[in-house]
Amino acid sequence: MRGFKDYYQILGVPRNATEKEIKAAYRRLARKYHPDVNPGDKQAEEKFKEINEAYQVLSDPEKRAAYDRYGEQWQMYQRMREQYGENFQPSDFQTPFGFGDFEEFIQNLLRGAGFGGGLRVQRTPRDIEQTLEISMQEAIRGATRTIQIGVEEPCPTCKGTGVAPESRRTCRVCGGTGRRRFGMFGLEMHCDECDGTGVVGAPCPTCRGTGAVMRTRTLTVTIPPGVAEGQRLRLAGEGAVGADGRRGDLYLRIKIAPDSRFERKEDDLYTDVDIDYLTAILGGEVEVPTPHGTVKMKVPPGTQSGTRFRLAGKGLPLGKGQMGDLYARARITVPKYLTPRERELLEQLRQLRDRQEVKP
Ligand SMILES: [Zn+2]
Ligand SMILES: [Zn+2]
Repeated sequence: MRGFKDYYQILGVPRNATEKEIKAAYRRLARKYHPDVNPGDKQAEEKFKEINEAYQVLSDPEKRAAYDRYGEQWQMYQRMREQYGENFQPSDFQTPFGFGDFEEFIQNLLRGAGFGGGLRVQRTPRDIEQTLEISMQEAIRGATRTIQIGVEEPCPTCKGTGVAPESRRTCRVCGGTGRRRFGMFGLEMHCDECDGTGVVGAPCPTCRGTGAVMRTRTLTVTIPPGVAEGQRLRLAGEGAVGADGRRGDLYLRIKIAPDSRFERKEDDLYTDVDIDYLTAILGGEVEVPTPHGTVKMKVPPGTQSGTRFRLAGKGLPLGKGQMGDLYARARITVPKYLTPRERELLEQLRQLRDRQEVKP
């Protein structure tokens, strides 16, 4: 589910703030983040939108009361009230769905019923989620990506009704309201004859009667440095469009692509690092590839094959500024071919060892 938007926090006022205080806070913030004052600043623009959204709710006593009570669901609650009358309470839906499923239930209802009639597609702006695969390096350093997303929008030819404009006529079964009374709650659910649109006729040629068309949108996304696997980036106002022309939000779920050089085990990365037999015996330094770039690592004398060295903070971002570790596993390498001089020296070494064995 979406993160809760605290309108009070956005405006920086206490929950018991007076209308006057809310207005003053709004004016101050709106001046500060106004797009005219911050040309080209995406963050300021986002902030400005949020401030306006918060003010629109908190400056209206009725909306504010609904928001205080139902949080982000207040809009849905209000729509239900418009539909089912002043006495409507979300608790009417406590059985058999349980209150926790209330939002989902309403969402389905809104979608299925073409809420309010006249539309086959959703009437409310809708949040959408998409996976965005990035490399380990991009997760660490951040990146800018151009992505394309398919977003469902009301068909422009039939305005979302699914009916060809020239053949369009009012549904006789529901009298054009798109709704009929039935169901276990005595709710007005959508009319099957016109599929809740209130109109009947030949299918719209543009959308083949579905009422929706897919639009491909191209977006430029800035991925901040240090994003973790599974983290969601919110692109406000880039989701699916509702009948009122407003868009829901787009969420990009980060997936970090595998890298053949590294093995992932929970929060940490593992890699094999070749250490030549002389460095393993005598000690020295080797280079280790990490997602942060190549680093030099000290190898102590007498390093055994399989020894694990921990490179703290050289793994993947874990979110909240934390960085995982990288473990380098020693793989001792032995030369396949020796020069005559190498052979001579190594033979001497062996004789030395053998003699020591005979005469300790
Ligand atoms: Zn259409
Ligand atoms: Zn109908």
